[in-house]
Amino acid sequence: MSGLDRRAFLRTIAGGTAGFAVARRTFAQAPQSAPSPPPITVTKLTDRVAVFGGDGGNVAVVTGPDGLLMIDGGYADRAALLASAVAGVDPRAVRILFNTHYHFDHTGCNESLGARHVRLVAHENVGRRLRTRFDNPAMGRTMEALAESGWPTETFATDGTLAFGRDTVSYAHTPMAHTDGDAYFLLPASNVLHAGDLLWAGRYPVVDYTVGGSLARMAEALGEIDGVILDDTRIVPGHGPASVTRAEMRRIRLMWQTINDRLERHAAAGDSIEAVIAAAPTREFDLQVSVRNPQPFLRQAFGGVLARAHQRAR
Ligand SMILES: [Zn+2]
Repeated sequence: MSGLDRRAFLRTIAGGTAGFAVARRTFAQAPQSAPSPPPITVTKLTDRVAVFGGDGGNVAVVTGPDGLLMIDGGYADRAALLASAVAGVDPRAVRILFNTHYHFDHTGCNESLGARHVRLVAHENVGRRLRTRFDNPAMGRTMEALAESGWPTETFATDGTLAFGRDTVSYAHTPMAHTDGDAYFLLPASNVLHAGDLLWAGRYPVVDYTVGGSLARMAEALGEIDGVILDDTRIVPGHGPASVTRAEMRRIRLMWQTINDRLERHAAAGDSIEAVIAAAPTREFDLQVSVRNPQPFLRQAFGGVLARAHQRAR
């Protein structure tokens, strides 16, 4: 985050709803040719849980007696706008920021909130990734390290609980699913679960196989989530609508399993990615998820299948 963005962020935190004007001015200074990003949307799931959508991952904000708990933080260049949107719902300070994984579209508030001594909680592999710049072929880019203020202050290896006001909230790591550091976050008193990027609704998922991700394990992770929720639990996906139902999550899991089975058969036959794409293994699902070009997803998902086969062969 640039110094300008950081100052704007701090002003919006301090200024509450006045922050909208600051944020607009920041965008007005952007080059004319830059497409304007989608607005940040707010959906209240309960009187205490709001989900903020936009172009980054879904952000959940929980209000407690002493301040806010935030699950994920969107893009860094949208942190100021997100902060003003959050302040519009509840102007009190964020006390805890939880990262569901290391991706930049979920950890964009780490540096700004970390600089204000907010507790940053994440899986230990998220800490490792955020400290390190590395090339990521699955994502087709270099993953930049965060400044030290954005590094988790508290990490965990498997699971844990947090006291937040009168509630106890919990989180659990699912190994090697979307990444190597995923965790879902459960709010039992509100009957809400934030799945991070273990769940994508209305689009195909990103599969970060460079760090151990695979569609097979993502489907298994949804099975693990299914085991800790109720029929009427609201599940916040990493991307897509503010929440989906358990039944919808089960449909998505079945779709991913079906696609993964087909990709594993292609891999066992020694097929190239071009042959996989030509066989259109997602054909009947493309309309359901409104995807016209499944190629980027197929390349990642098939890359994950090959990486897993390679691991098993060693
Ligand atoms: Zn992600």
